[in-house]
Amino acid sequence: MDYVLAIHGGAGTINPGVDEAPYHAALKAAAAAGEAVLAAGGSALDAVSTAVVELENCILFNAARGAVYTSDAVQEMDAIVMDGASLATGAVAGISTVKNPVLLARAVMEKSGCVLIMGKGAERFAREQGFPFTPPEYFASKVRLNQLRRAQEAGSCSLLDHDGGNGTEDEAGEDLNGTMSAEPINPDTKYGTVGAVARDRFGNLASAVSTGGMTNKRPGRVGDTPIVGAGCYAANATAAVASTGTGEHFIRTVLAYDVAARMQYGGATLAEAAKVAVHETLTGIGGEGGIIAISHDGSVAMQFNTSGMYRASVRENEAIVTAVFA
Ligand code: ASP
Repeated sequence: MDYVLAIHGGAGTINPGVDEAPYHAALKAAAAAGEAVLAAGGSALDAVSTAVVELENCILFNAARGAVYTSDAVQEMDAIVMDGASLATGAVAGISTVKNPVLLARAVMEKSGCVLIMGKGAERFAREQGFPFTPPEYFASKVRLNQLRRAQEAGSCSLLDHDGGNGTEDEAGEDLNGTMSAEPINPDTKYGTVGAVARDRFGNLASAVSTGGMTNKRPGRVGDTPIVGAGCYAANATAAVASTGTGEHFIRTVLAYDVAARMQYGGATLAEAAKVAVHETLTGIGGEGGIIAISHDGSVAMQFNTSGMYRASVRENEAIVTAVFA
């Protein structure tokens, strides 16, 4: 079977006149890293983990390095992986000291006997498993702190759309790590979670997602990302799905599983299932965001109800395609 991989770097509204090139380059690099695993005969699970690690390490996206801040100005991260062959899954929520949360989620799946571990317990499990302590300075971003300040000044909270204006031109390059530029998708109205889905040459599906959550979120708030069926789902019989957007709406609609259920019980194709899930189920309750998905037969769907979603896909023997807007 041909391998297929798709990734996303979050969804949101257009910021006109901003250079998209760094985003296309970052998406291409992450897709290439995931593809290299599949091309070498590796598993879908390894491919999605590798692609998400690349995106977590890139400060342009809201996951791990460059994660957004809670209302207490702390970065609390969530991540998940799911193996479509066995329905095994592992997730972490509210962690702040692990460089690559997706790898800790993978360790939860493979070594803990649990599905979801949160906060201090997750960090203790990380140390037990040999994940080094990563200090807050590694994740810190002045751009993200300014986003928090704008959200707080506007009195907006993470659960509402906030329209904090552009605010990026004067901040370009101001992040503590010095590599973030103005964003083509307005960072004040963006859901910047990262995710990956893949089918490997053996027909196995997998999905992985990682996020800093939503700017100005309540400390301890957990979104859809580490919730199986909401932020992420993978089953070989149907599809692998990775979400990004207003997490509460994805939890309430069990959106990633909604796609799989439409296929399994309703006989829908992936294209039909993904379209209805995003544009009817999610939109119907006021949710915003999008999904990427790959079906057992290797088709790819990327649906969003925002004006853009950072995304890329690649199929065996074809070039990587990256996109930001519709
Ligand atoms: N879905 C994430 C959350 O609610 C946010 C995002 O997609 O950027 O935590």
